Amino acid sequence: MTEDTGFFQEILTTLETANGHLNLPPAVYERLRTPRRSLIVSIPVEMDDGSVNFFKGYRVQYDFARGPAKGGVRYHPRVNLDEITALAALMTWKCAVVDIPFGGAKGGVQCDTSRMSRSEIERLTRRYTYEISVLIGPETDIPAPDMYTDEQVMAWMMDTYSMMKGYSVPGVVTGKPVCIGGSLGRRKATSGGLVITVLEALRHLNMRVEGLTVSVIGFGNVGLFAAKQFSELGAKVIGLADSKSAIHNPYGIDVDMAAAHKKERGMLRDFEGADNLTIDELLAVPVDVLVPAAIEGQIHAGNVNGIKTRILAEGANNPVTNDADAVFRDSGVFMLPGILANAGGVVVSYFEWVQDLQRFFWNESEINEKLKVIMTRSFKEVLAISLEKKVDMRTAAMVLGVKKVAEAVMVRGLYP
Ligand code: GLU
Repeated sequence: MTEDTGFFQEILTTLETANGHLNLPPAVYERLRTPRRSLIVSIPVEMDDGSVNFFKGYRVQYDFARGPAKGGVRYHPRVNLDEITALAALMTWKCAVVDIPFGGAKGGVQCDTSRMSRSEIERLTRRYTYEISVLIGPETDIPAPDMYTDEQVMAWMMDTYSMMKGYSVPGVVTGKPVCIGGSLGRRKATSGGLVITVLEALRHLNMRVEGLTVSVIGFGNVGLFAAKQFSELGAKVIGLADSKSAIHNPYGIDVDMAAAHKKERGMLRDFEGADNLTIDELLAVPVDVLVPAAIEGQIHAGNVNGIKTRILAEGANNPVTNDADAVFRDSGVFMLPGILANAGGVVVSYFEWVQDLQRFFWNESEINEKLKVIMTRSFKEVLAISLEKKVDMRTAAMVLGVKKVAEAVMVRGLYP
């Protein structure tokens, strides 16, 4: 019924590697290999021409031993159960790595928003929210934005859920507009957290950010703000890519001007401040820091060999396949895995949820301060495991995350 893309199997392989260092009891290991709940829904949507299209939607709660399930919702033509399960598993480890009291979930709808009107996307969102309302809620499972979903989509989800309840429930989703209970700092949180982990990695490697060359692959919420923040810190962003094209300038790209060009033309290609390349050509340009921030599996056995970078920070969830990861490991690339590097988004989602529940809001500098504390602590914990066990940072992050989830599973015990 659903396509098996092998993505979840990749996650199970990294879990197996982590378990090699943890030796969990077999029943606990089996629990962590299996999603708790998977919901598949059919979503009828009236299109603008009066016809009715049926979309496939998913919500997977991978594990909630440590707290309510948490994770984004993506709208993408390639969404399927295998992908959503893999991403829900990653959310489980990610929330544990940064030690926020959530389990992991993910949702998605198989659709192409570039071919849909705003009102079609609104009707799709409202009906999807209704269909998964048996699972979501501020105490149970809290969605957030992911690929091709944004603050407006979260506002529609919050409104639909609230209308069903008969009162406003801001804590049911995070990544909402600030005027309905969203958090300051949420929009830039994923990139902000990523930059913090890269700065920590640079400190560890005795390198300075000024003058470093950076390429960012993916120009959505994460890629755009990461590129901007690296430029502001004095690094030279020499390469940018969106889903179709890449641009390159060895002297540095003006990220704001590239963003304005993208907004006007709908693509990065033909930006006058840089040369056009294919994405694989850009990946082959040596850099100090490479940030894949588009989609899973973007760097694989087929294109990894041309890549030369000192640090790789995963802005997306698992943009580097296990095969490609092995190549980086052998060549000494310092890897910042997504479950650490891109966790800033869910950390500020946690702050948003806490603020919604307590009905008391913090200012932006308080939020950025708290984000920095969590990201720095988590980096140091992962690095300590990596040094102690002599394993790469991805394995170390998995060991940390899986161990915390396993502890919760074991101390809670088996019901009944
Ligand atoms: N979609 C983001 C992620 O993959 C954020 C999830 C959230 O804030 O719940 O981490």
